[in-house]
Amino acid sequence: MILKEFIRQLEAEIPSAIQESYDNTGLQVGNINAEVSKALICMDITYEVLEEALTQSCDLIISHHPLLFHSIKRIDASRNPGKLIHFAVKNDISIYSLHTSIDKYEFGVSYALAERLNLLEIRVLQPEKSLLKKLVTFCPTAQSASLRNALFNAGAGHIGNYDSCSFNIEGKGTFRALEGTNPYVGKPGELHTEDESRIEVIFPEWKKESLLKALLANHPYEEVAYDIYPLENNLENTGLGAIGNLKTSIEAKDFILKIQKEFNKNPLRFNKYSGKISRVAVCGGSGASLLEHAISAGADAFISADIKYHDFQAASERILMIDAGHYETEIQVLHLIKELISEKIPTFASLISETDTNFVRYSK
Ligand SMILES: [Zn+2]
Repeated sequence: MILKEFIRQLEAEIPSAIQESYDNTGLQVGNINAEVSKALICMDITYEVLEEALTQSCDLIISHHPLLFHSIKRIDASRNPGKLIHFAVKNDISIYSLHTSIDKYEFGVSYALAERLNLLEIRVLQPEKSLLKKLVTFCPTAQSASLRNALFNAGAGHIGNYDSCSFNIEGKGTFRALEGTNPYVGKPGELHTEDESRIEVIFPEWKKESLLKALLANHPYEEVAYDIYPLENNLENTGLGAIGNLKTSIEAKDFILKIQKEFNKNPLRFNKYSGKISRVAVCGGSGASLLEHAISAGADAFISADIKYHDFQAASERILMIDAGHYETEIQVLHLIKELISEKIPTFASLISETDTNFVRYSK
């Protein structure tokens, strides 16, 4: 498969448009026109991971953390990241990174963590704002059903677990075709009144291009009238963190032991909190900034990583905040990436890296 096509199919599920503005997801190294056949899925790009890719005959690496995050001015093959880039190029290995795109993807990093903890009724903790738009268009009533379907097929009209959502109202449209036109209805030079439908559909911002393409291809008029509105609504299935419920509530001290055992972490860092735990928020990686979201969403516990002293202070007696490690709270997403490739691009081979790239070590 050509890399460009692989990326197109992957991004149809995990759009790069949802990444954080500071991030650098997507292709890091490689040629989008190159043929690729097997992917190694890993957390970080290290020399050992590149060697593993070579041993396993993988010509593509999909990493969670990007190889190139800060801009570089030279590729110095004697040190990282130049050494890693040089090795990848020399061995025809392409590198693609997901990072905050898969942090915010509904079934991404935090979902994988919530699943590992067997949480029920998992939802996104901090849904994205300003990613939803509304398209309004005006179409001859007789053609409105087929146009509406074309818009749905292009990705418009999803609200929660409903698809084909639209609002429609009948009215009269007027226009006068001027010189050089070839109107679908009416005669050039004459004011025309047509029975039209106003169709309203919502869509996520990154589908704008394909939606407009579908609109213009399926609307009968020479000049298509449409409006696009920005919306304040949350995009409920996209955003950072996840929240869900335990099957049965347990004492905070028992929950701490459970997490310690699950992540094999000793010592485990957490704050002073007494009470029962039944609702749990999680954010894989550095998620301390979501503390207040976790509290206002009714969580009794919040599991994340890279938590600072004063974050624990802010959480004290309000919520049980646990630092379960950056690598540990993200690593399970690799299985979701592999499952997603198997499901959406079934002809493409992929395997999960066996290299432990956790840069943090713990004394026993
Ligand atoms: Zn991370």
